Amino acid sequence: MKNSNSVQNKSKIKKVRTRLGPSPTGFAHLGTIYQAMIDKVWAEKNGGQFVLRIEDTDIKRFVEGAENVIYDSLNWFKLIPDEGPIYGGEYGPYRQSERLNLYKKYAEKLVKEDKAYYCFCSKERLDEVRKQQQNEGKQPMYDKHCRHLSKEEVQKKLDAGESHVIRMKVPENETIIVEDLIRGTIEFDSNLVDDQVIMKSDGFPTYHLAVVVDDHLMNITYVIRGPEWITSFPKHKLLYDYLGWEMPVFVHTPIINNMDGSKLSKRQGHASVDWYRRKGYLPEAVLNFIALLGWSHPEEKEIFSWQEYVNVFDLKNLSAVNPKLDLKKLDWMNGQYMQTLTNEQFLDKLYNWLTYCIDNEYVGATEYETHWTKQDYIDVFNWLRNLDEDKKLLFAEINKPRVKIFEDLLPLNNLFIKNFNIDEEFIELLNKYKNSEENKEHLEWIADLLKNSDFSLAHLKNIELQVKNRADEVGWKIMEVFYPIRVTVAGSKVSPPLFESMFILGKEKVIERFDKALEAL
Ligand code: GLU
Repeated sequence: MKNSNSVQNKSKIKKVRTRLGPSPTGFAHLGTIYQAMIDKVWAEKNGGQFVLRIEDTDIKRFVEGAENVIYDSLNWFKLIPDEGPIYGGEYGPYRQSERLNLYKKYAEKLVKEDKAYYCFCSKERLDEVRKQQQNEGKQPMYDKHCRHLSKEEVQKKLDAGESHVIRMKVPENETIIVEDLIRGTIEFDSNLVDDQVIMKSDGFPTYHLAVVVDDHLMNITYVIRGPEWITSFPKHKLLYDYLGWEMPVFVHTPIINNMDGSKLSKRQGHASVDWYRRKGYLPEAVLNFIALLGWSHPEEKEIFSWQEYVNVFDLKNLSAVNPKLDLKKLDWMNGQYMQTLTNEQFLDKLYNWLTYCIDNEYVGATEYETHWTKQDYIDVFNWLRNLDEDKKLLFAEINKPRVKIFEDLLPLNNLFIKNFNIDEEFIELLNKYKNSEENKEHLEWIADLLKNSDFSLAHLKNIELQVKNRADEVGWKIMEVFYPIRVTVAGSKVSPPLFESMFILGKEKVIERFDKALEAL
């Protein structure tokens, strides 16, 4: 009773603070955004803060400009942290490379208190030990060689300037018990937990020390991180105990799998945020989609706003069962979001998408396929920019219900930006249902109407009705009267609604296409 009271009191006093600790690798993983989303929703729901910390302690992996990839991806999803290197805050600096003296201080404190020790083992020795353990079928672990050096031996080596690391002392023959909010209690045999390096020979901490020190000093109350860190959890628990610090609540998010049950791999295009941006997904739709990984809306709703998510989300309802990434469902969802956009919003987002694809080289994984060329993005951009306002809006209107993602705009809209040849293939396509004579007569009839039209949308829609009526007159099916017109205008059997397309294309181009087709028939 007393215990639960004190827990309640603590949670009342402590403000919810979540954090994202990405390593700047030049690549924004979907899993990182998933964590950021949960960090943000949980902080926002509780009136707390969401902190961004750049975990750049691995200098070998430093990538120029990689930090910007993180900001840019968070911006795209509107998952803006409350604190971080470029956002400010009272707990900075927020880059681990700028906090090295803090890690050093705590590592030395641990050594002084006999909870950590200097290790002078060479890489060659460690390799040798590992090889032998592997040969014996044992789990590769440090053999604790330097744990047993005397104080004098250590001092002698330090004085001689021998290269060293600091390792934490893991107790022997104990059970280390940790709590995960969604996974419950997890027990680890301490004999299987390595004497982890916490400070490297280059003076940089490893993740394990840095994460514990920073989460504590930054007053983080909820650590929401990837499932790959569960095995490190006992080490972190020990470090909290050794330093005498209270642990935050831990949540290891579920593993996101592909539909076939395999793990989402970094090499797969759809692991990268950039892939979603380039395909032309809407960030709101992607967020809605990933919100439903390992969690469901209490009323089983599929589509909901961020505000609604904030209102109904509860961290404890997150499931530890590994969800599957159903990209077909995402396509459907994105299509739903597309349809809720106003024409102006659609155009705005389309411009942003085109600009992004034109200005940025793909920085995602190796697998990425698209049927768009760089020139396509430029052509569509220029074509749109020079289009009259009413035509732009109509373009949005007719495409919104037809495309799920922006990439679907081609080949559907090829007729606006690409020229096609009037060749044998074209004639063959045109004459699919009727022969040349019949089609010629039909096309002459409509060309005449079009030539005499003012090409207002209303007039064109009126001609469309006349085409429909003509089906009865000539005894053709409705589809058969429209088909050769579509092929003439679009050079293809697919296009957005035909008469709206003619309006957007403009009289001159439409008539020119009819003249050319008629000449060839
Ligand atoms: N730097 C770690 C990573 O990029 C962060 C893990 C954590 O959230 O604690 O995976």
